[in-house]
Amino acid sequence: MMEKDITTNAGEWITNAIKEFVAKSKENSLAMSTDQKAFDTPLIGFSNGSDPLYDEYVSHIGDFYLTPIDLFRKFFPQESTVASKDLTIISWVLPSTHLTRQEQAAMAKQPSERWIKVRYYGELFNESLRRHLVLKLSDAGIQAVAPVLAPFWSRSDSGLYAPCSNWSERHAAYAAGLGTFGLCDGLITPLGKAMRTGSVIAHISITPSKRPYTDHHEYCLFYSHGTCGKCISRCPVKAISESGHDKQKCRQYTEHEMNEYVRKTYGINTYACGLCQAGVPCTDHIPTPDEG
Ligand code: SF4
Ligand code: SF4
Repeated sequence: MMEKDITTNAGEWITNAIKEFVAKSKENSLAMSTDQKAFDTPLIGFSNGSDPLYDEYVSHIGDFYLTPIDLFRKFFPQESTVASKDLTIISWVLPSTHLTRQEQAAMAKQPSERWIKVRYYGELFNESLRRHLVLKLSDAGIQAVAPVLAPFWSRSDSGLYAPCSNWSERHAAYAAGLGTFGLCDGLITPLGKAMRTGSVIAHISITPSKRPYTDHHEYCLFYSHGTCGKCISRCPVKAISESGHDKQKCRQYTEHEMNEYVRKTYGINTYACGLCQAGVPCTDHIPTPDEG
């Protein structure tokens, strides 16, 4: 069957391109002795570059945070006439598999082997997906940039929400209607929060996805119903409380203690934890009030 042209229905063309890569790429793998995929079928959403949310992110997070048009102009400085409204942010959610989630839910102190491998090999695949989509769009004559792969993507240790980066994949996914934030700061999506997310900014017009929520915490039972809080007890270092997520405490554990653990145990130089993302009601779906 002949592949449809991007001009027929760009949203569908991009959605199919992402799904096909996730389904067929050999890189979607946990690199274990048996053939195991890192991710199941993804969710895809779109937001427009002129969405006021992107300016709101700057005002909340800090002036170092980049909007889609900032990023696009940094990458394509010659395109001075392109406006925010001419850009579409393509976001995706890559859900981890049932086995990964089940294995992680049984852990109490350190992340499971599959979880660590999703963090490492799964994120390498996520990077390949970003590159693949940029290339595919470019072959179709569409300029595109993957913010977190751009040379100017960086992290900041200052500001109210530090540590944070100058482009957040999860905030782009929120804008694209893919989920809302939980007490632990994870993004709760229709496929749960045990996932990885990514985005590409493209010079193309696509109808933005509907945001089926009005509040950024809507899917979290703690914020919406005053119940649950089950991620609090999942954290081995008490980095989650009724006041929210202590990013510094979390970082100390994940990026230092767990980096050492992962290096010694699996010989992989990465960090991981994510214990708060499995064994809780929002692991694999949007939780319902009776699960609180
Ligand atoms: S476990 Fe409960 S409180 Fe924590 S993020 Fe999920 S729904 Fe919210
Ligand atoms: S990732 Fe680990 S350390 Fe960080 S909040 Fe979740 S359980 Fe706690």
